[in-house]
Amino acid sequence: MINKSIFSIHHKSLPKWQCARCNNGILNYIEELAISSETLESSVISENLHEPYWEVYFSYLLKCNHCKDKTTVAGTIYHYYVDGTNYEVLNSTYTIKYVDPSPRIIKYNSIAPDDVEKLLKLSFNLYWIDLHSCANKLRQIIEFILTDKKVKYATGLKNWIDNIESEHFYEYENVKLLMGSIKDIGNSASHSQNNEIMHEDILKSYAVLDHILEKSYVSNNDSIIAAAKELTEKYNKKKERKSAP
Ligand SMILES: [Zn+2]
Repeated sequence: MINKSIFSIHHKSLPKWQCARCNNGILNYIEELAISSETLESSVISENLHEPYWEVYFSYLLKCNHCKDKTTVAGTIYHYYVDGTNYEVLNSTYTIKYVDPSPRIIKYNSIAPDDVEKLLKLSFNLYWIDLHSCANKLRQIIEFILTDKKVKYATGLKNWIDNIESEHFYEYENVKLLMGSIKDIGNSASHSQNNEIMHEDILKSYAVLDHILEKSYVSNNDSIIAAAKELTEKYNKKKERKSAP
């Protein structure tokens, strides 16, 4: 399952992401590798309101505690006093706008072709920057899988998905349904920039895509089913012969 809170855009403190380079360590904040500065707008507001108002740009290099490599994260932090505490309790909200390399939203699927992996990595970066482009990348992954599985091409992704048959995927009717949902959010992203796409919906799409990738490249169900058929054929016939008069 995808940990939704760790992929939220807003945080009270920086989340403990897993390093995308080694997929093993955790990324940690290092004070010497951090830069932050108040936004111009913030300084103007503070002056006019005669009240504290801080919004700062931040750019940090996070360090992996395993491979020691760095990851860039940037965005804004809004510092504010908690109401009723007489300017004593200060809280912060981090808004993430860029992470590179971005932490993996779904697990590494080592059997998937390299092109799927490249598109996935691009989509993880776009997740923080532009959800419409991210949804488009997910749609491209579906197109790639259809090509890779040699599903007969048809104009329009819906028609192409409709050409999926049992030879292409185990539980192929379910795969059609799953791919259809990625097509829908991808189409919405392509055709209407005004149509708001939520981070939560993209995370749901990743969960669906993870399932599609598993059915396409990891699940060895086809060979298991073939083995089961062989066993039935072999031993059922023996049974029939034995029970024959
Ligand atoms: Zn690492």
